[in-house]
Amino acid sequence: MSIRTIFFDLDDTLYNSQSGLWQLLQARIEQYMQEVVGLPPRQVAAIRQQYLADHGTTLRGLHTHHNIDPEHYLSYVHDVPIEQILSPNPALEALLTRLPQRKWIFTNASQAHARRVIAALGLGPHFAGILDIAGMSYRNKPEPSAYTLALELASEESAAHSLFIDDRAENLAPAKALGATTVLVGTREPHPAAHHSIPRIEALLEAVPGLVE
Ligand SMILES: [Mg+2]
Repeated sequence: MSIRTIFFDLDDTLYNSQSGLWQLLQARIEQYMQEVVGLPPRQVAAIRQQYLADHGTTLRGLHTHHNIDPEHYLSYVHDVPIEQILSPNPALEALLTRLPQRKWIFTNASQAHARRVIAALGLGPHFAGILDIAGMSYRNKPEPSAYTLALELASEESAAHSLFIDDRAENLAPAKALGATTVLVGTREPHPAAHHSIPRIEALLEAVPGLVE
């Protein structure tokens, strides 16, 4: 089945998980939970793990249990020095240039954060659009309805013609269930939710050469 549309996750997918950016974002999330929500510092890490497991994102958990303002949360946690951590990635830029498919960012983060990351990586205008958490009406991965909405917003009628790329296997399982092809980034280890596993995004064509054939 030929792939027409590719959905790229953003954080820890378009850049290496060793960059340290995700650790900074996690620290901001925990700071928010302490300073804004007022949760006990020693319980924050455990509560966050629970929210991630139960709701897919900390945001969804905090909104469900503490009725927080999602926009304030997103601007607070994304207030990190991205430009000091990420640098232009010419190999990724070249890869995106070679891929003829329509490309979308599909992220549980905000539009503003996605734009900053794309700019810091030095990526040109490759993406048809950014499917961010607010644009998705706060339906986040791995909620199955997020995937059908993403396909709809991308005007892709068939999941079977789609490729989803993510660093979290949980986020690939619903896409695979819909019939999409899935690529797990950040490991060579096979996973049931992934058709392919690659250590870095730059290895995409080694795993799925048919994308440019
Ligand atoms: Mg990610």
